[in-house]
Amino acid sequence: PEAITVQELANRMAEKGADLVKAMFNLGMPVTITQTIDQDTAELLVEEFGHNIQRVSEADVDIVTTDDVDPEETLKPRPPVVTIMGHVDHGKTSLLDALRGTDVTRGEAGGITQHIGAYQVKTKGGDIVTFLDTPGHEAFTEMRMRGANVTDIVVLVVAADDGLMPQTIEAINHTKAAGVPMIVAINKMDKPEAKPQRIRERLLEHEIVVEEMSGDVQDVEVSAKTGDGLDKLLDAINLQSELLELKARPDRDAEATVVEAKLDKGKGPLATVLINRGTLKRGDIFVVGTQSGRVRALHDDKGRQVKEAGPSMPVEVLGLGGVPRAGDTLTVVEDEQRAREVAEYRQEKADEKRTTVAPTNIDTMFSALN
Ligand code: GDP
Ligand code: MG
Repeated sequence: PEAITVQELANRMAEKGADLVKAMFNLGMPVTITQTIDQDTAELLVEEFGHNIQRVSEADVDIVTTDDVDPEETLKPRPPVVTIMGHVDHGKTSLLDALRGTDVTRGEAGGITQHIGAYQVKTKGGDIVTFLDTPGHEAFTEMRMRGANVTDIVVLVVAADDGLMPQTIEAINHTKAAGVPMIVAINKMDKPEAKPQRIRERLLEHEIVVEEMSGDVQDVEVSAKTGDGLDKLLDAINLQSELLELKARPDRDAEATVVEAKLDKGKGPLATVLINRGTLKRGDIFVVGTQSGRVRALHDDKGRQVKEAGPSMPVEVLGLGGVPRAGDTLTVVEDEQRAREVAEYRQEKADEKRTTVAPTNIDTMFSALN
């Protein structure tokens, strides 16, 4: 939190420090002139003295990406973004690979599987589903901690021949905490020792009541090995997705979330982003975390060049100034100067956080006091 000493604030307001101390006393908050007060108290004082507060909002210098809401009539349905979670060896990777194999657009000219951190599947029915290709809870929680809630639906994988294991429980807890709907995939049904009913019963202990047990959490029996049940799983995902009425505005500057980033020896910094809203196009200028850049090329999950990417589509972006972090937001801006300005401002703020214990820089709080 921002803080300032009473004296500094007085200087800013061109008032006497003693008068501020007196005012604070009258407000029931006795302080000394060298004491540090928080931002809310400072604002209260400024108002008390009849000054006009102009908080330098992040929006003035930075870009606030979440506070402008697209009008309802501009919204269009978008594909769901799905994360697969579950205990180690229960078949997350196998299931992701098997689901990728169901993509009806696979095999189109030039399409070779690229592991870019996320991929899309087009089902026989024509529905599109985006899967995050990074199974595991760390990616999910790390992204959530950084404020990036990209997952719409969690598929919890439980091996029918095993049972609820520690990471299964963990996944259940993370999913509940995130408030994301869950679909249970009971995997390894091809195994003779599969006992799906036992899984359903054990799930009850964690307040997961699946449909087979007359609850409302969809459960699907699958085999990542034979491919049995994958269509049903995709149907379940689409049904859940329809209930969520997922929408985003496609015709605006893009806003996206980094799901994976790395430095490639040949291509330079690369990031796979998932478009939250808008359409990202070649040539777009953007900031992402503390980096700026211009889209030089976009590649889809089959390694093909694409001209643009719309909501829920994962694309690999070339043309970054540096490597961003997973969970960073990419925002398209009007020109390079603005992009550099914002990136530099964020870099400064990040450096400040690292070097100063108690920030006392009033410039980040108020601009003009008059
Ligand atoms: P992860 O750790 O959750 O990613 O699990 P993996 O996908 O690596 O699978 C762990 C092991 O289970 C591997 O040996 C897989 O071949 C096997 N496996 C995964 N799914 C199935 C399945 O549906 N049936 C059978 N029989 N084996 C499976
Ligand atoms: Mg795995």
